[in-house]
Amino acid sequence: MKSIIIAIDGFSGCGKSTLAKAMAASLNYRHIDTGAMYRAVTLYFLDNDVDIENQNEIAAALKNITIEFKHNPETNQTDTFLNGEDREIAIRSLRVANFVSPVSTISSVRSFLVKQQQKMNDHRAIVMDGRDIGTVVFPDAELKIFMVANDEIRIQRRLEEIQLKGQLGNYDEVAHNLKSRDLIDSTRLDSPLRKADDAIEIDNSMLTREEQFNMVYLLAMEKINEKSNLESI
Ligand code: C5P
Repeated sequence: MKSIIIAIDGFSGCGKSTLAKAMAASLNYRHIDTGAMYRAVTLYFLDNDVDIENQNEIAAALKNITIEFKHNPETNQTDTFLNGEDREIAIRSLRVANFVSPVSTISSVRSFLVKQQQKMNDHRAIVMDGRDIGTVVFPDAELKIFMVANDEIRIQRRLEEIQLKGQLGNYDEVAHNLKSRDLIDSTRLDSPLRKADDAIEIDNSMLTREEQFNMVYLLAMEKINEKSNLESI
């Protein structure tokens, strides 16, 4: 069976990572959550008082940043490591969420991360989620999904996620964060969030996790079979 690249893009809080994780597990592919990488850079900038108006400071800081993903045997999840330290919990905080979109508008940050993301594609067999995967990182991905969901549902899902982690979620804060990130992410000059022309849009407002998984799994199998058939001719 041939391997493909699956690119999953969309607005904040649409469940991209949950879907990507499940797809990767079922196909035995690698899952990369690129949002975690932008969050890790943001955490570094916050912790080290990097002035995001100063290009020299940004360039110097990027030289000191190493991001890795490692399996956490306690939770059986993949955690994000920043300079050798597990910072999975810190990158999910509202402190980081409130600053990540401005950081993600910076072109030097984007090219620093996009290069690493492109290198993670060894022999395809990857599910990557983010905002610019189908448009910039892997424009040649065999399957591109663009996820949307209505605002209220996205806010509720994010609140549940925060509460599950034992943190206190405030409705207004979460709503404001999602809306402002959507706006900054889709209007920035470098790699704005947009649906690739050949992406399939899925509105998952009314779909269960299982329903959307089945939908995307079928699409993936179609693409894998198409590719395997083509290459065996
Ligand atoms: O996916 P997540 O919500 O964790 O992403 C956090 C932020 O990182 C987004 O709001 C966006 O500003 C940025 N991002 C991006 N490009 C990506 C992935 C995330 O600009 N490919």
